[in-house]
Amino acid sequence: MYSLQTPLPAVTGIGPTLAAKLATIGLESVKDFLLWVPLRYEDRSQKVTISQLQAGELITMEATVDSKSNYYRGRRSIQSATVSDETGKLKLMWFNNKYIIDKLVKGQSYLISGKLNDRGMMVQPIVENVGVDSLHTNRLVPLYSQMPAIKQGTLRRILKHILDSMETESDLSDEVLTAAGLPNLKTTLYQLHFPDQPELVVKARERLAVEELLGLMKKSLEIKSQWENQTQAPVIGTKTHTVTLPFELTAAQQKSLSEVLQDLRSAVPMNRLLVGDVGSGKTVVAGLAALQMIKALKSVALVAPTRILVEQHAQTLQKLFPELPIKVISMGTTKAVQKELASNQEATFYIGTHALINQLGLIKPGLLIYDEQHRFGVNQRSATSTSIDGKVSSPHILTMSATPIPRSLMLTIFSHLQLSVIDQMPQGRVPVKTWVVPERKRPESLEWIEKHLSEVVENSSAQPPASAQALIVCPFIDPSRSEALVNVAAVTETFEVIKTAFPQRRVALLHGRMTKTDQKLVTDQLYEKQLDILVTTPIVEVGVDLPAANIIVIEAADRFGLASLHQLRGRVGRAGQQAYCLVFSASQKASAFERLQRFSQISNGQELADLDLENRGAGDIFGTQQSGFDQLRFASWTNVELIKIARTVFEQLNQLPEWQPLLDVRQLSAETVPLAN
Ligand code: ADP
Ligand code: MG
Repeated sequence: MYSLQTPLPAVTGIGPTLAAKLATIGLESVKDFLLWVPLRYEDRSQKVTISQLQAGELITMEATVDSKSNYYRGRRSIQSATVSDETGKLKLMWFNNKYIIDKLVKGQSYLISGKLNDRGMMVQPIVENVGVDSLHTNRLVPLYSQMPAIKQGTLRRILKHILDSMETESDLSDEVLTAAGLPNLKTTLYQLHFPDQPELVVKARERLAVEELLGLMKKSLEIKSQWENQTQAPVIGTKTHTVTLPFELTAAQQKSLSEVLQDLRSAVPMNRLLVGDVGSGKTVVAGLAALQMIKALKSVALVAPTRILVEQHAQTLQKLFPELPIKVISMGTTKAVQKELASNQEATFYIGTHALINQLGLIKPGLLIYDEQHRFGVNQRSATSTSIDGKVSSPHILTMSATPIPRSLMLTIFSHLQLSVIDQMPQGRVPVKTWVVPERKRPESLEWIEKHLSEVVENSSAQPPASAQALIVCPFIDPSRSEALVNVAAVTETFEVIKTAFPQRRVALLHGRMTKTDQKLVTDQLYEKQLDILVTTPIVEVGVDLPAANIIVIEAADRFGLASLHQLRGRVGRAGQQAYCLVFSASQKASAFERLQRFSQISNGQELADLDLENRGAGDIFGTQQSGFDQLRFASWTNVELIKIARTVFEQLNQLPEWQPLLDVRQLSAETVPLAN
């Protein structure tokens, strides 16, 4: 019998070597393992007879082995078998798979899952015994992102074994949750991996979504009480230092700024969330707040999710505030840099990625700003306080986010946060013209881009600056070998195609697996407008601000949620110019096409988020892709109903003395979610 706490080495089928490998990706207990959630499911439940077989359709059938053989062609071994049912005969074929031929027994029936090819046979089908609970055929089959050292089939077998040997009795908290209409924990985990019907996956994910929200609520409450009791923060003066900006702040920006400044004048550490749709101008508000803190002779630290954003923030903030001493802190902070940090007496505006958090003890910032983290200060809290004269001192914290969540619900979950909202766009913004482009029009669309880049270049008096730029975004870096991710546009391949298609243009490649130096080289060129076309991954999804970019092409767009698509589209037209978004998708599903069609018609982030939620029906669980930057794995900020349920349940559970959330913050952090890049 296993429980959620059972360590993985105690599970039959997981030896010490495998357990050690799993531990390297943070999987140590049965709970961790069971929360390795399928990326999607393949529907192999459709059962047909041989006479009903149609080429290209994924099916499962039951048939008897008539004959089998194993032979060699050159270096390759080939296995073949003939099977039959009462309606006909069929030839099956495998390559280099001697195991299968040993396993098949003449005269015995099997469940066979695969696709008929044009030559009337089935290549590399999956075979299982009839009668046992099938895992790989005859059902909705879960597909997982690659786990080190485990093949998909083995992973499924171990998961099934664990689920079949779990303790069954449910505890008090399980009862509270089921009373609220959610499935019990055992059902949840079972249906998540081996669903009987698509609808039951939805139910299971709802339960996990509520669990996730409960974890956040609990943590938030803890932070709130810590925060109020033991901390104090540096204050700024009452005078506001002004600078001349190239534009006027919107009323919403002004209001948010004064809310922030008011907090900074108090020694109670601020913990404020600044929310605003993509392009609403959050950075300048943060910059103005930073300016005041530095004038008060305290340093400021800004943490951004990617290297690119770090470089960009350094550049744009330096332009807006030439007098600010800005310093970029890079990943591998050396001893020398640490020494410099420690000895630097001047109030400095430090900008860096997550690694910067480890240096906060040296920097001792008065204000800590998180950009686009989507995690609302829940994880980082402990690293930020420093002890001065026996008193704990905390920086003020400002978190910026474009997450579309209704104000009232936000405060329901995050009792430790104050909220400022920028609900207004800078003047003169025009919606990005968006088209879903059919595959057959691809050549034309490339010509269109070429022409469009030229037109703008020649019209040199145009606003934005003379040279226009195009971004081409692909979901993944390499052509994927993982069976869950075949046929998805890969950035490396696309780069080659684009280079050939645009011989006159300066084309560059950018993705997260390039060296830091190479990434910086490309981003510098990009901001210096030495590039016309950038082929990239969703690494540019969040926050990238390229005023000259006016065309974005999104490949395999069905792989992205609407919120991600909206973020991506927000990368163009940021100087107020007319911009264009070309959306491609090879998906044959009518629902996918319709979703993208709606995306092309709607330009408001909140509206798209609502739509994403509406669409999250039973059919939509196949092939949904999470954005790597989102704190949430299961819940959605816009799922009002679930958030309400979570709130009610939380009030009851929080009364129970020994209640602990199923998902703790470690499990809630984005790092444990397999990222697309
Ligand atoms: P986001 O909220 O998405 O982070 P940014 O802060 O990057 O948005 O701002 C988007 C763009 O709009 C930037 O180029 C910025 O300089 C510009 N901007 C910000 N505020 C205004 C304003 N009030 N008027 C005109 N442009 C603005
Ligand atoms: Mg931003």
